[in-house]
Amino acid sequence: MADTIFSKIIAGEIPCFRVYEDDQVLAFLDINPLSKGHTLVIPKEAAETLDRLSDEAAAALGRVLPRLSRAVLQATGATAFNILQNNGATAHQAVMHVHFHIIPKYADGSGLGIGWPARTLNADDGAALAAAIAGRL
Ligand code: AMP
Repeated sequence: MADTIFSKIIAGEIPCFRVYEDDQVLAFLDINPLSKGHTLVIPKEAAETLDRLSDEAAAALGRVLPRLSRAVLQATGATAFNILQNNGATAHQAVMHVHFHIIPKYADGSGLGIGWPARTLNADDGAALAAAIAGRL
C-alpha cells in the first residue's frame, strides 16, 4: 500500500492534534472539521479500506470508538454525533488509509449533512441478496 498522509502522521513525520493513542489505534482532530470536535480514528495497520482490515485491527478500533465518542461529546457539549467511514473514491474517500470520522451534530445544523435517497426493497430480491451475502461470510 502506498504511503498516505495518515501513515506519515502515525510515523510522527507530520504533526496532528492527537487525542488518543494505543498500540493499534491513533485518534486526532480532523484538520478541516465539519463541526467542533470532528475527530478521526485510524488503525496503525496500513489498509486502504475497511474490507481489507484484519479482524484484530478492527476489534481494536471497535473497542475505543465508544469511549472516544463519549470524550468528544463531553468536551464539546454536543449531544448527537455521526460516525462516518468512507471506502473508495466513489464513496467520498480522500485519504486511502482506513479511518472513522466522529462528527458531532449541533442544533445549528453544523456537522454531517446526509443525503439518504431510500428506495423500497423488493422481497424476492432481498431474499436472494441476503443469501448471496450470507454465503460469502
Ligand atoms: P475521507 O473523505 O473520509 O477520506 O476524509 C479524509 C479526512 O482527512 C478529511 O476530513 C480531511 O479533512 C482529513 N485530513 C486530511 N489531512 C489531514 C491531516 N493532515 N490532519 C488531520 N486531518 C486530515
